[in-house]
Amino acid sequence: MKGKIEINRELCKGCTFCITACPKKIIRLSAGFNNSGYIPAVVDEMEQCTGCAMCAEMCPEVAIEVWLEE
Ligand code: SF4
Ligand code: SF4
Repeated sequence: MKGKIEINRELCKGCTFCITACPKKIIRLSAGFNNSGYIPAVVDEMEQCTGCAMCAEMCPEVAIEVWLEE
């Protein structure tokens, strides 16, 4: 089972909770700012995502959506 996530960069406040939570360590902060002045999280190597949803569960801004692929 593989997963995929989408981080809404405008909702993200750069708290890094998802970065800490991800067992695959594939989330990092991006290089730029969003329109609210926060540095949003982005995903590297999405192919490593298992769809465990721990990132989304930790996000206080509900900025992460998770999909599972069969
Ligand atoms: S769903 Fe799991 S593996 Fe995928 S980015 Fe989120 S915490 Fe990491
Ligand atoms: S947990 Fe949510 S608000 Fe915090 S950095 Fe990750 S996506 Fe952004």
